[in-house]
Amino acid sequence: MKDKGFDILSYVEYLRSQGVDFIPLPSVKNQRKFMRSVETGTEDLKKGQLEDLRRELGECRRCRLHETRTNVVFGEGNPDAAVVFVGEAPGEEEDRTGRPFVGRAGQLLTRMIEAMTLKRDKVYICNVLKCRPPDNRDPLPDEVSTCFPFLKRQLEIIRPRVVVTLGKHALKVLTGERAGVTTVHGRWYNNMGMRILPTFHPAFLLRYPSMKRAAWDDLKKVMKELGLK
Ligand code: SF4
Repeated sequence: MKDKGFDILSYVEYLRSQGVDFIPLPSVKNQRKFMRSVETGTEDLKKGQLEDLRRELGECRRCRLHETRTNVVFGEGNPDAAVVFVGEAPGEEEDRTGRPFVGRAGQLLTRMIEAMTLKRDKVYICNVLKCRPPDNRDPLPDEVSTCFPFLKRQLEIIRPRVVVTLGKHALKVLTGERAGVTTVHGRWYNNMGMRILPTFHPAFLLRYPSMKRAAWDDLKKVMKELGLK
């Protein structure tokens, strides 16, 4: 379950910012309806905050990658997701469409999400870098440090219960871990007030299918943390 205490606080802060200083308590009979409206309100609030952040990012030219990209790939999914998947950077198909994880690796990620008994539109998916590096080369440190504040704010808005890092770059930027994914996958980290679990990037799993079993064991830990069967 999501942390409803935090969600309610966010919603009350939002109402206060809109000038509301009195909330009538519902009757016991209507409490469930009230909780549903609070949750919907929180989702709407987060959706609006993500849209504001996307507008702020704009047609970003903060690093050199703007010169070669076609589209900024901000991220997509449920603004109130319990789990966020963070990859490295858009690939060719993502750059073309402006959507994260839609190529072959993305199709595998979708199947991994569904194997967790989740739906793709119920989670949130994004990358460390919002623009494709030329020829899918590794992100450079200054590109990561320039783009990272937007990922950080995405996560601060969504406040998921779990972040799953896909591959070495997301692992490093979100945990500071310098060891490789092969060494530390499936190990829990706590950072930025979030539980973070590293696993393999789906593109790596396409190249090394024998590692899918290990990735699935990692995802089962996430399912356990989220109370999924
Ligand atoms: S990678 Fe990030 S910082 Fe660089 S141009 Fe794209 S959105 Fe801006």
